[in-house]
Amino acid sequence: MVEDNLDYKEYLKEHGLKSTKQRNLLLTLLHEASTFATAEDLYFKAKQADDTISLSTIYRILELFNKKNIINKTTLLEEAKAVFELKPIAHRHHLICLGCKKIIDIDHCPLESFEKKLEATTDFSIVDHKLELYGYCKECKNNIPKKS
Ligand SMILES: [Zn+2]
Ligand SMILES: [Zn+2]
Repeated sequence: MVEDNLDYKEYLKEHGLKSTKQRNLLLTLLHEASTFATAEDLYFKAKQADDTISLSTIYRILELFNKKNIINKTTLLEEAKAVFELKPIAHRHHLICLGCKKIIDIDHCPLESFEKKLEATTDFSIVDHKLELYGYCKECKNNIPKKS
């Protein structure tokens, strides 16, 4: 399944990173993951394609990707673990269900005009922001125990 390496080579270069087999592999796995993945999830999958890879290598690459702004690093409320996803080409936010851990993408960004206002009033140059919304999806909403 790791055939997209050529594309990632360019992608890594654009972000000032050298393309390596393990970086390409991790990008492929992040790309394939339909939702946020933990370092352990990625390690488990990476191991099947490259059994020389170690968990600390995964962490190192993820930190590097995070520093280069290629991925989003978030912590789900109830879990202490950090989760990662490939940054979409288009800027996006998420609704995260606390019941089933489903993650719904929101294409609309409500903060764009707010950012401009902030930049104007604070003289701060904003390059990015994070916004995740937590709650319960339609299915889980019906299963929340009612307060008595
Ligand atoms: Zn749910
Ligand atoms: Zn936004």
